[in-house]
Amino acid sequence: MMLSGWGRYPVLDCRLHACPVPDAAEDAIAGATSLIARGNGRAYGDAALNPTHTLSMLGSDRFAGFDPETGVLTCEAGVMLSEILRVFVPRGWFPPVVPGTKLVTVGGMIAADVHGKNHHRDGSFGAHVTQLELATPDGVVTCSPDTNAELFAATIGGMGLTGVILRASFRLVPVETAYMMSETRAAGDLATAMALLAESDAWPYTVAWIDCLASAPARGRSLIHRGRHATHAELPRGRREAPRPVHDGKGVRVPFDMPGAALNGLTVRSFNAAYYARGRAASGGGPELVHYDPFFFPLDGILAWNRLYGRWGFVQYQCVLPDTASAAGLAALLDRIAAAGQGSFLAVLKRLGPGSGFLSFPIAGYTLALDFPVRAGTFALLDDLDTIVAQHGGRVYLAKDARTVPRRFAAGYPELDRFRRVRAQAGAAGRFESLLSRRLEV
Ligand SMILES: Cc1cc2nc3c(=O)[nH]c(=O)nc-3n(C[C@H](O)[C@H](O)[C@H](O)COP(=O)(O)OP(=O)(O)OC[C@H]3O[C@@H](n4cnc5c(N)ncnc54)[C@H](O)[C@@H]3O)c2cc1C
Repeated sequence: MMLSGWGRYPVLDCRLHACPVPDAAEDAIAGATSLIARGNGRAYGDAALNPTHTLSMLGSDRFAGFDPETGVLTCEAGVMLSEILRVFVPRGWFPPVVPGTKLVTVGGMIAADVHGKNHHRDGSFGAHVTQLELATPDGVVTCSPDTNAELFAATIGGMGLTGVILRASFRLVPVETAYMMSETRAAGDLATAMALLAESDAWPYTVAWIDCLASAPARGRSLIHRGRHATHAELPRGRREAPRPVHDGKGVRVPFDMPGAALNGLTVRSFNAAYYARGRAASGGGPELVHYDPFFFPLDGILAWNRLYGRWGFVQYQCVLPDTASAAGLAALLDRIAAAGQGSFLAVLKRLGPGSGFLSFPIAGYTLALDFPVRAGTFALLDDLDTIVAQHGGRVYLAKDARTVPRRFAAGYPELDRFRRVRAQAGAAGRFESLLSRRLEV
């Protein structure tokens, strides 16, 4: 069938096989010359595409055990984050790290070593994994930070290229309620936005929406959102009886592909100006109570929002720059994006801490993420952004990428040779492959 990632670019004819139980993965590996595991297809680009054998893990979705003493949950790799929230929030437990959508699998979160709004404090998802079972051509291997530690570090963030993750154990964190206390601060330019994010480090969750098309002196103006889990005592009386309601899973669906012309520099510029003005007017007050669903997953309320970018799809560009180079690098990136008049209203700026695995994306510094509809000139612009990122010692995120080139990728990931060695030792090189791994000559 024709398959793509969330960005709907590229689209590839793939043989999709189901893995209804973890044991079936071993047979699939034995019968395939080249294979890649696939979760819920929320990586934006070509990471979960293999033309001859793409193995869908969605059917492998059972919980295996939970220890209420330690908060450690063990489950199969196809379990969805939305399901973990549905089952565990009412019991007073929350995932240690969540990305910007709950429609991802545990296997996908480990393979991309996803980061959340709490990365500056708690690291990425892989930092909370205590053990995993990995199917390799040589059989099922148990890995943890202490057992087969190198294979563990290669698999966390390894984009499915070391084997198929069958089961994982990771720690949930206790919460008193399903609500967050959240507040917003406005920053009129990039330096203020970076300072506000750094100042907000004591908040468990921080993120900024950044207007990527504003030029100097308003270049980098942003709305900084910060939050923490609300306590039971902070709930209004009416909500204390049922303090942990879960998301309802409903949403509005985008019914058709938007015409490409609908999203141009003018519409985005006007939207951004209005959005910033509204956010700034509302900012500055004390924390407000908000449910975890709109706080963490605002886009999940709009089903199939990837159709907003038109039928040719879009790419998300996400890079991270080290702390010392962030101010200059971000300014150069924003100038180039504003000059091109491209880029979306969904742009995010966030402070990250260090990463976990050999190919994990995070490094201590600032990450910028924004969408670009695929159209004439988009890839030339992104090549320019790659150059700026490289000049400032940064890297792009593989879970979002669909077009960078081997030399840029290799320069950004200094542990690549180590990853290659461990992958080869596990017999995984040349067996677990995706369009991404071939494109980047991993
Ligand atoms: C709206 C939106 C917001 C997002 N926000 C964030 C964010 O805030 N932070 C962040 O880090 N990411 C974010 N992402 C990216 C997303 O979290 C990752 O791409 C994640 O990997 C997707 O999980 P999935 O189950 O859909 O996996 P897929 O997209 O299907 O696969 C992703 C990768 O995981 C591998 N994989 C999947 N399952 C297995 C398995 N069982 N064994 C081995 N490898 C496997 C695949 O081979 C592939 O390389 C966001 C994506 C969207 C669409």
